[in-house]
Amino acid sequence: MNEVKQILVDIHTHHPRPDVLSPTMAGIHPWDAECGYALPDFSLCDIIGETGLDYAREVDKTTQERLFRAHLEAAERLQKPVVLHTVRAFEPTIKILTAYNIKGIVFHGFTGSDQQAREALLRGYHLSFGDRSLRSPKTRQAIASTPLDRLFCETDDNASLDIAEIYAEVAKIKSVALAELVKEIYENYKRLFRL
Ligand SMILES: [Zn+2]
Repeated sequence: MNEVKQILVDIHTHHPRPDVLSPTMAGIHPWDAECGYALPDFSLCDIIGETGLDYAREVDKTTQERLFRAHLEAAERLQKPVVLHTVRAFEPTIKILTAYNIKGIVFHGFTGSDQQAREALLRGYHLSFGDRSLRSPKTRQAIASTPLDRLFCETDDNASLDIAEIYAEVAKIKSVALAELVKEIYENYKRLFRL
């Protein structure tokens, strides 16, 4: 049998594994927007993030937006993709994004509705799904309608979660063979980084 090596991609994890492909990231989380941290050297990472807006947190919105824009400016200048953290701020996030020419945009831990997914997909963005996405009935519907060439899977900060579990569940929702999902996501990864 002709065995093709199946490479799993975890597009956003706080716990990288040697057997799973994960991009390196640098950024200041919107939760830390008021901490006054200096921006990291973005030239050293694969992806800029996580960055974005979180309106569920008690963090000044103007400060969050200023920091978010600083990340987007760097992403535009360095031609690097961005991983977004967006909570209760979908529309303002989209509005800010349209002002920048970013190489690739990934909404991480997407928990939005099918309608929001469609809006993001129309703009050429990618959606990444993790365990919280799978627990949300409205997002399960969004997963079903997200084309295979625009989605990623992730474990985020959950150290006890195996990325293979997310792949298996997403494959089930999309009614595709696991091997096909693995292949498509790897292609998405290569396209995101123009490999
Ligand atoms: Zn995270």
